[in-house]
Amino acid sequence: MLPYPVIAIDGPAGAGKSTVARALARRLGFFLLDTGAIYRSLALFAEQQGVSWADGPRLGSLAEQLPIRFGRGDEDGVVYLADQTVTTAIRTPEVSLGASQVSAHPEVRSMLLGLQRQLSRSGPCVVEGRDIGTVVLPDAPLKIFLTASPEVRAQRRQKELEARGVRADVSDTRREQEERDRRDLTRATAPLKCADDAVLFDTSDRSLEQVIDDLAIIAQTRLSL
Ligand code: C5P
Repeated sequence: MLPYPVIAIDGPAGAGKSTVARALARRLGFFLLDTGAIYRSLALFAEQQGVSWADGPRLGSLAEQLPIRFGRGDEDGVVYLADQTVTTAIRTPEVSLGASQVSAHPEVRSMLLGLQRQLSRSGPCVVEGRDIGTVVLPDAPLKIFLTASPEVRAQRRQKELEARGVRADVSDTRREQEERDRRDLTRATAPLKCADDAVLFDTSDRSLEQVIDDLAIIAQTRLSL
């Protein structure tokens, strides 16, 4: 039984999850747990420690001692790896690919399960990822699965990268997204899939405001806020 209201948001890359999860958390006054940032930080940490993204057992050991910390309050959205701020460093296309590779190892997933559950018990929160409603928090009282067409998702990813000053070619972004989707959907452990009891929500033709308005109403009703 979860001690606080929790909203699980899952979906593929570029469905608008990060933006939606952050805005919804802010609207409801909930803490946001971005679990993708944990896999991304592990990929960066492995690179810094000279551990290959293909080495499941060694990545599992690294995951056990991953010195990650999320900023709160004024530091909302800031990610720390030991004493380094890695908020931007974990968002490059290279680390995206690394995160997708490290996250496919069962050793990594099982090691990071406890950390994600522990972080999501610290207060009312929105937890965003790929397997939150199915594996990490199967008893979450509200599960949302966000989707959007592949074209819309690639365009959003491209805009997000440009806004961060990362130069990337549109077709490379699309290819990278397809590669990550394929790996997320086909991995043996905790593949990306919509939980049976999740609300399926297509964001292709809706503005961010419309999506947040709709989801806030669903959350208030379902969680009796
Ligand atoms: O959500 P984001 O794009 O930041 O996630 C980076 C990568 O981490 C994803 O491509 C996915 O492979 C992995 N991931 C995962 N399970 C989660 C969150 C992210 O496998 N719960």
